[in-house]
Amino acid sequence: MSLSFQVEAVCGEARTGKLITPHGAIETPVFMPVGTLGTVKSVPQEILEELGVEILLSNTYHLYLRPGVDQIRALGGLHKFMAWERAILTDSGGFQVFSLSDLRKVSEEGVSFRSHLDGSTHFFSPESAIAAQIGLGANIIMAFDECTEYPAEIRRARESMELTLRWAERGKRYFEEHKTEVPWGKAFGSQLHQSLFGIVQGGMHLDLRRESAQRTVDLDFPGYAIGGLSVGEPRELTCEVIAATLSHLPADKPRYLMGVGTPEEIEQYAFMGIDMMDCVLPTRAARHGLLFTSEGKISIKNACYAADESPLDPHCQCRVCGRYSRAYLRHLYASKEVLAMFLNTVHNLSYYLDTMQRVRHSIKLGERAKLHSGVRSTRKP
Ligand SMILES: [Zn+2]
Repeated sequence: MSLSFQVEAVCGEARTGKLITPHGAIETPVFMPVGTLGTVKSVPQEILEELGVEILLSNTYHLYLRPGVDQIRALGGLHKFMAWERAILTDSGGFQVFSLSDLRKVSEEGVSFRSHLDGSTHFFSPESAIAAQIGLGANIIMAFDECTEYPAEIRRARESMELTLRWAERGKRYFEEHKTEVPWGKAFGSQLHQSLFGIVQGGMHLDLRRESAQRTVDLDFPGYAIGGLSVGEPRELTCEVIAATLSHLPADKPRYLMGVGTPEEIEQYAFMGIDMMDCVLPTRAARHGLLFTSEGKISIKNACYAADESPLDPHCQCRVCGRYSRAYLRHLYASKEVLAMFLNTVHNLSYYLDTMQRVRHSIKLGERAKLHSGVRSTRKP
């Protein structure tokens, strides 16, 4: 087995568990920081380890364009290339093809698109997206899907969902036939290195989500993702779609909600029964001087912090809050010092990881009622 998942504590719909990969065990619900190009921008891997990051997400689309899958494969795979011994998940590139590239053309066969870097033409198919991810060597890899745009009429959402289902079947077949062809295919004795997750689509139509979930589960993956959310829809609708989808996913398999959200949202979704989440928000916001704290969001560039000697978040125990003042962080940001990017990112990631740790603790204690109460217990136990 390349992956095992054990549910440990259950409270209402929420659960804690352990996701065990050949690169270590991951406590769930987990927030996965995004390391787009094999780096969480500005943060060295040893600091990620210190923060307790157990799994990182990297983007196939970006690594495929630069430095290229063959290059990383020749250098021993992504773990070795980026000197990261813990778990990695790669997305299939589908979302970036749909959101970043120019002149994309979708056909039954796949998607042709132009690189956002130099305009060169490329083609991703359900098979080539898996081949690229086998070459990169992440522990968890994702089926190539079409992220349905929002809003989408039910007919269009159904067509898109059917295409994603056909692509999932093709991707899975390709994975089964080729997963042991890389040097790290069986790097751990007879243990397989990689696992392929399926992705549920269906737009915002609950019937389609239900059908997509059931038919994706019929294809039998070791884990399931919910894609196509956080694309501009109201949050109530996001929750409805998540709830409708979760009720049709097997309880004994990990459930991954792709590309969400704020600290409040990841907390809420974890309590709804989601096990894995990723989002660029904490890292991207940090680079724009937006910092999440137990007292609310802070825009560190504001003049009101110029003489503020207090820590960024008095309840945070991260290395940034333990040492530096808001005044200093504001100065670094206003002066465009590179240290600002690092310190801001470390704090925001720490805040997200602490949020998940607190959620796991609450679930273990059976304290689900705290949800929506607006009361944040500020410290982890
Ligand atoms: Zn902090």
